Amino acid sequence: MARITGPKCRLCRRSGVKLYLKGTRCFSDKCAIEKRSYAPGQHGNRRTRRSEYGDQMREKQKAKYIYGILERQLKRYVSEALKSGGVSAENLFAILESRLDNLVYRSGLAVSRPQARQLIRAGVFKVNDKIVLTPSYRVQPEDIIEPVDFSKVHLREGFILPEWLKANVKERQIELLRYPTLEDFNENYEIQQIIDFYSR
Ligand code: SF4
Repeated sequence: MARITGPKCRLCRRSGVKLYLKGTRCFSDKCAIEKRSYAPGQHGNRRTRRSEYGDQMREKQKAKYIYGILERQLKRYVSEALKSGGVSAENLFAILESRLDNLVYRSGLAVSRPQARQLIRAGVFKVNDKIVLTPSYRVQPEDIIEPVDFSKVHLREGFILPEWLKANVKERQIELLRYPTLEDFNENYEIQQIIDFYSR
């Protein structure tokens, strides 16, 4: 399965912000961007002026790195968001956030989205009682996610469950209550810029 590979901290440094791709390390003083807050490479700490196009490109790259998706996947998601009617940025946010790997991460069941993908591929999660091995699986409202084997899952410290998810702690289940809206948006990328990038 195609995926983004290579050193994850370089992706943060290239984006100029923390993208939280390495779990607990991202919250420690070992975080690479805390030590070197400039882009990687020989000319990384040179100041450059970016165009509107450059800004839009940077935002869509950030979203790709955060959700661990490839160019063609993001393009497909944007195309779907544009065709769905309503506010395209909100549609795109709902599509990105309803991926199974994202929901496992948001539920605190993985330290990072890359770890969530590993766990899903290893058959650790069921959706509506069926094991799902596809990290990009699109979860629908009222779907129930639960670990098959809780010993393989470690709750992430300090995570905050979004309002649009419900945790049944006793049953160890997570339910997607509704798709998130732009009112729930609190991410470190500009979603409208992504729509604008692909609408040029
Ligand atoms: Fe990004 Fe985490 Fe690496 Fe820091 S430690 S640069 S937040 S991936």
